[in-house]
Amino acid sequence: MATSIRAVAVSHVGKVRSNNQDSGYAGASLFLVADGMGGHAGGDVASAIATNRIKEIDHDYPTAEDAQVALQSALLAANGLLAETVFEHPELTGMGTTVSAIIRVDDKLALAHIGDSRIYLLRDGELKQVTVDHTFVQRLVDTGRITEEEALTHPRRSVLMRVLGDVDSSPEIDTWTVDTLPGDRWLLCSDGLSGVVKREVIAAILSNVESPKVAAERLVRASLDAGAPDNVTAVIVDVTTAEEEAREPVTVGSASAPVHFEREPSTHTRALRLPALRLHPARPATGPTHFEPQTDDYLDELIEEDQRRARRRRLTWLLSGVLLVVAIALAVLLGYQWTQSRYFIGESSGKVAIFQGVQQNLGPISLSHVYKETAVDVDNLSPYEQQQVEDTINASSLDDARRIVEQLSNDSSN
Ligand code: CA
Repeated sequence: MATSIRAVAVSHVGKVRSNNQDSGYAGASLFLVADGMGGHAGGDVASAIATNRIKEIDHDYPTAEDAQVALQSALLAANGLLAETVFEHPELTGMGTTVSAIIRVDDKLALAHIGDSRIYLLRDGELKQVTVDHTFVQRLVDTGRITEEEALTHPRRSVLMRVLGDVDSSPEIDTWTVDTLPGDRWLLCSDGLSGVVKREVIAAILSNVESPKVAAERLVRASLDAGAPDNVTAVIVDVTTAEEEAREPVTVGSASAPVHFEREPSTHTRALRLPALRLHPARPATGPTHFEPQTDDYLDELIEEDQRRARRRRLTWLLSGVLLVVAIALAVLLGYQWTQSRYFIGESSGKVAIFQGVQQNLGPISLSHVYKETAVDVDNLSPYEQQQVEDTINASSLDDARRIVEQLSNDSSN
């Protein structure tokens, strides 16, 4: 049966990120999503470079297997291009990108996938994820160490095991071919959608909204309604028996603008790069990172490291608590000692007295006491001096206090 395609690509920066590191493409035969990551300003460059390179293979293929081979080579070429770019611009070190791509050949599709962007198929009202996330937590789920539920909130859920970038010259890319039927709706999306919007909500929107454009916009809206902590990109590909509509290729996200990165003086020394790094806002803590673990021992090591960290965190909290109590006690002690170095003149049982401490009270606690009662009767002082003594007279030292008392004593005997 002759089938045709209706497709759309949308991308949104989200509500938290300052730039869009996702790219999306809906072309003639090729459809893809790429989610970039990396140090400063690297993520948008990575996804744009990869997308622009892979776009070059958007044409007709005799068979899906040919398209599969073309995808495999294009993703590897993009990987090489990223490594070259990093070599020329060391400030981009660590940049990388996911890629999930489809090429349609009649009623077959060739797929390629690396990273944690996703491809879903909605068929007969049922949504199925056809890609496997190349994430640390997916490995943990696959090896039975944690449950799917736990994976959703795992602190390392954004850590990727495989991406295109400057780390591995021949990264492992999943490629395969599948049959597609009229009525199939394919969704390619970044984790800004799949990690934020519940699968049931995605399924409901894809099932209930006929227009791919409106459906894609609803998906982005759902992510925005959920706070959109990350860039959101969705590409929808509908397989229909309707007449083929004329379609212009659409590029969205960072690949839709000319690739641009700061031409900082290129240097391979780390010390010289650090000041440049500081000028850029720190990446959100949830930002993805990637690494290339070799064996399962590595996973065990990471799990152990997590546990060690948790223990260290508890110990740090305990120590901080103890230190805080000691610091408060010390502050109180020093404060009290300071008050006891102060003197003032006041009245005690009708006599002029020298008080040690300060006039103020700390709640019910008096911060002063009679240091020395004198023989001078307050009643014998002039009304002005009586008032002064009742109001208390500050002394700058004990000697000063004694001098003031002597003065009062002389005045009273005159
Ligand atoms: Ca993302």
